[in-house]
Amino acid sequence: MQHDELWIGTMLEGKARWVAVRTTDTVEEARRRHGMSPVATAALGRLMTGALILASSLKGEESITLRLLGDGPLEGVVAVGNAQGNVRGYVREPRVDLPLKATGKLDVATAVGHGELAVSRSLQNGEVYTGMVPLVSGEIAEDLVHYLLTSEQIPSAMLLGVLVEKDYHVAGAAGFLIQPLPGATEEDIQAIERLLEQLQVGISELVAQSLGMEELLDHLMGELPYHVLERRAVGFSCTCSKARLSDTLVSLGEKEIANLISDGKAELVCHFCNENYLFNKDELQQIWERA
Ligand code: ZN
Repeated sequence: MQHDELWIGTMLEGKARWVAVRTTDTVEEARRRHGMSPVATAALGRLMTGALILASSLKGEESITLRLLGDGPLEGVVAVGNAQGNVRGYVREPRVDLPLKATGKLDVATAVGHGELAVSRSLQNGEVYTGMVPLVSGEIAEDLVHYLLTSEQIPSAMLLGVLVEKDYHVAGAAGFLIQPLPGATEEDIQAIERLLEQLQVGISELVAQSLGMEELLDHLMGELPYHVLERRAVGFSCTCSKARLSDTLVSLGEKEIANLISDGKAELVCHFCNENYLFNKDELQQIWERA
């Protein structure tokens, strides 16, 4: 059985770097946790896969947050990835259903709508840098490529794909990024462009055929030789806990907590993973004392 993994390497004799990631289980877990429709699964799955790819160049405790602030029926999509290969995320309206496009594909662009992409990098020292760009297509891979070029001056090519079965299960999800490095010639860049144009089958379809990472890369790279530098496991993982949410309750203030105590209990749900946390009267009493 295959597991979700992220591989990093070089190609074109070190004149380009690439990142490839399989996220089938990660996206399926997000779908199950949030009870998402196919189009919501595709949108969040692509964004989470993109977050893992961009987070792969971070260090230590750094993380990256991608937010699609669109006017489409999903009403916003958020994904957070970190350097350890953990990702979490949600869509505001998980049950949105739209007709398929004429091509038979899920209509992610309409579900996302027009608006902006916000990319926030949290550094080790706690500083957060946010860049905003307009959404160019709402298909997500193109939007991330546009962000990398205009905000970070890094030319990139990216594929993001999520294949959802008729029974809503995720059959395959994956992403692939190529970035020319200093020293890359016009010919190298053309070779990269040709590579992606020549792909006959979508990346999620390739993964759904249960190819291993090596076979997937052989398909993606075609005739071009490539070198693998690093492999790491990736997966859905949230940072929430009962202790963290009790801090949130403390921040509500004495009066609000007193109201909850008179209700006899409080139930909090984590946006990112849909986990339920129940606080009973005794626990609320302790929180009230802390406040
Ligand atoms: Zn959570």
